[in-house]
Amino acid sequence: MEDRVKAKYDVIIGLEVHAQLNTQSKIFNSDSTAFGNKPNANISEITLAHPGTLPKLNKKALEYAIKMGLACQSTISREMIFDRKNYFYPDSPKGYQITQDRTPVCVGGQLVITKSTGEKRAIQLNRIHLEEDAGKSIHLDGEEDSLIDFNRSGVPLIEIVTEPVIHTSENAQALLTEIRRLVRYLEICDGNMEEGSLRCDANISIMPKGATEFGKKVEIKNMNSIKSVGKAIDFEIDRQIGLVEKGVSIASETRDFNAETGVTTGMRTKEELNDYRYFPDPDLSPVHVSEEWLAEIEAQMPAMPWELLNKFIGEYGLPEYDANVLIDDKNTAVYFQDVCKYTHNFKAVSNWLMGPVKSYLNEKGLDITALKLSPEKLAELISLVEDNKVSFSIASQRLLPALVNTEKPVAALAKELNLIQVSDVRAIEEIVVNVLDAYPDKVKAYRSGKKGLLGMFVGEVMKRSKGKADPKIANELLINKLS
Ligand code: ADP
Ligand code: MG
Repeated sequence: MEDRVKAKYDVIIGLEVHAQLNTQSKIFNSDSTAFGNKPNANISEITLAHPGTLPKLNKKALEYAIKMGLACQSTISREMIFDRKNYFYPDSPKGYQITQDRTPVCVGGQLVITKSTGEKRAIQLNRIHLEEDAGKSIHLDGEEDSLIDFNRSGVPLIEIVTEPVIHTSENAQALLTEIRRLVRYLEICDGNMEEGSLRCDANISIMPKGATEFGKKVEIKNMNSIKSVGKAIDFEIDRQIGLVEKGVSIASETRDFNAETGVTTGMRTKEELNDYRYFPDPDLSPVHVSEEWLAEIEAQMPAMPWELLNKFIGEYGLPEYDANVLIDDKNTAVYFQDVCKYTHNFKAVSNWLMGPVKSYLNEKGLDITALKLSPEKLAELISLVEDNKVSFSIASQRLLPALVNTEKPVAALAKELNLIQVSDVRAIEEIVVNVLDAYPDKVKAYRSGKKGLLGMFVGEVMKRSKGKADPKIANELLINKLS
């Protein structure tokens, strides 16, 4: 699609994001939400909606939804009810879904996204409501019958609905990234899109530039990564503009995204959509959120990423770049602060976490929570380097991996592995003399003006000392002897 053609249209995008809450039990009964159990192991009569069974709200699910609302500066509803959304689907045993229509837990609010340019932008939210998840239909290849697993049926979800205020796929992706980071900070959802604990439907429409009335929206489903959401939106924008340019009008419909082909295809048009006939669920009493309970939840809120950003820059004196990298993952931010309890060299801690520790974890495919190195030991390792006892390269390449596998104290291990840096001037001097003796031509060349050879001499001294010579001393001695 040519930019000139695209420029004739405004794009409107609104997202509906479902996050599976990681409560122990389901939203309206005490069945387990454990993932990976045998199919239909987590189902009581209530999950299966046997006649006479009654749902009862899981307070934890409501608490988690409120936490998300507080993080998004939404207004928390004090009185709410649950509604039935009526439609038939084989993996929804009741024939309706319990959700919230008129009284979402959280009203309004906003999330701030950061664009690749570093520019920030607030995205307004319409609502965050609670609802139950459906079961899973399994269609096995070559099998005539479909199977149904009801384990997921009744697992709590929050649905975060944005206002139609997003205009690019980049911003839609940035918003999802921020939602994923927040649910992880709040520890209410693992945020994993590939595994379906975070799901996104994207609503997209186009209209002639400057028009005031939105075009008909198309809803895209089944994107299982943030990247896919971006690709699906871009594909859909081009498709819609292409049609309108040809004089074809856009029909409201739901489309499916295929990650392999990068193409969206029609699933159902709006006319075929159900009339959900929402009405209050008579089996659930209205819920009241008391002032006291809300205050309690507020008091339990963890530090939010933007608060940590200010703290890392203000209190720890880190550059903004470092602070942003460290807060991106909550566990890394926590670990950073833990290490800083044992050292005052905060910038060195940041360098270690962004450099050697990160490389080590990437290499092993580990998360920082799985790192078998206490914050105290990392601080000791950093001190050894600061005190010139061990060189940075030896500390990061040899001592760090060795420490992870032992209970031994840092300094003792460095000694045992013979990694302590040689700062003894006489010992280094001996090596320097040997090196100069070995390269008489280079010494001559240096003396006649090729000062660039100094690096080669230092390298040679480091090599002969197996990396243990203090490079600063080696440098000084070489300059001295060569002049
Ligand atoms: P529906 O009643 O069809 O579910 P809603 O008004 O509840 O529609 O909006 C659902 C989502 O679609 C919201 O995220 C909203 O921001 C978005 N949306 C609404 N209208 C448009 C539009 N014309 N173009 C793009 N997105 C839209
Ligand atoms: Mg809707």
